[in-house]
Amino acid sequence: MLEHKSAAHILAEKIDRDGPIALSEYMAIANTAYYAAKDPIGEDGDFVTAPEMSQMFGELVGIWLADLWLRKEQPDHVHYVELGPGRGTLASDALRAMSKFDCNPQAHFVETSPVLKAKQAQLHKSAAWHETIDSLPTDAPLLIVANEFFDALPVEQFVATQAGWRRHMVARERNKFIAIPGTQTIDNQISKSSAGLPNGTILESSPASIQIFGELSHRIAKQGGAILVIDYGYDRPGTGSTLQAVKDHMPISPFDSPGTSDLTAHVDFHSLGNIAKTRLLSVHGPAEQGQWLKALGIDQRAKRLAELVPKKADNIRAAHHRLTHVDEMGRLFRVMAATSMDWPQPEGFVYGDS
Ligand code: SAH
Repeated sequence: MLEHKSAAHILAEKIDRDGPIALSEYMAIANTAYYAAKDPIGEDGDFVTAPEMSQMFGELVGIWLADLWLRKEQPDHVHYVELGPGRGTLASDALRAMSKFDCNPQAHFVETSPVLKAKQAQLHKSAAWHETIDSLPTDAPLLIVANEFFDALPVEQFVATQAGWRRHMVARERNKFIAIPGTQTIDNQISKSSAGLPNGTILESSPASIQIFGELSHRIAKQGGAILVIDYGYDRPGTGSTLQAVKDHMPISPFDSPGTSDLTAHVDFHSLGNIAKTRLLSVHGPAEQGQWLKALGIDQRAKRLAELVPKKADNIRAAHHRLTHVDEMGRLFRVMAATSMDWPQPEGFVYGDS
């Protein structure tokens, strides 16, 4: 019988055999094991996401997509693509809302977790699944949605030392995982100078996110369509670690239990936006989630739903608050879109002079 090894075991063996590994490798191994093992989403799991709080979230995403499609003169053939669709709830609410406008795209899910794939299949009988973005169709415009996907992708960290930048590595000390600066300086790989920065300053980046976003931007430029990214993140370059772990709705150390806690990092919207611009897409936002949802009519939708189902009025009000209030998800979560040059300007973003 094959011995089942935990992620912590695999990581420990690897580090003991080969020496410290890059933080990005640690995060990739830990998260792959984590999502493969269980459905972590919901009150009984480790964290709750926006589409699980209320149908309003997915409906407004669907209306946003349908509006773009309508104003682009309703191309017959178009694909709905979701990256990391979790339980499939967002796709379900979005596609239902889109079908009210006669927009019925083929659904494509990019998902690696077998457990979540099975959950998604219960709701979506005719979707197509993809292990990576490489097999997504090339024949028609793509309407791509990613909610809390990019925050799960691995990050690299670089630490400023007297001698220059060093990569953050994960080692083992007395049976515990710890982060340490690598032994060699790698200033040639980093455009920012460490000179003048205090020792220990951390620069973070997610090469996996840049690669995926860059490739999808290229596809949209060629095929038409849009990508909508919703996540917690920052819109200016900064320093400091944003790596965090959540287990059972509580923050814990990212090094305590790899593979049994959700490892995430804030999304670098600034870099994603820049990559999309180099692929000649129009970039919109990032806007605050609360403002974006309000611009799309969440207040009216909440009122209407509460009238339709008075028994649920309190729940609907609570979900509306969590999704939009600045002290809840309203400000921390950002919404950014990138659209093909020959597609219309999307709704929900405030267009100023800048
Ligand atoms: N979007 C969902 C789920 C967010 S959790 C929601 O809002 O509820 C992150 C999702 O991304 C999960 O479905 C997870 O299995 C998937 N995921 C994480 N890393 C991935 C990768 N490298 N490739 C594809 N899917 C990934």
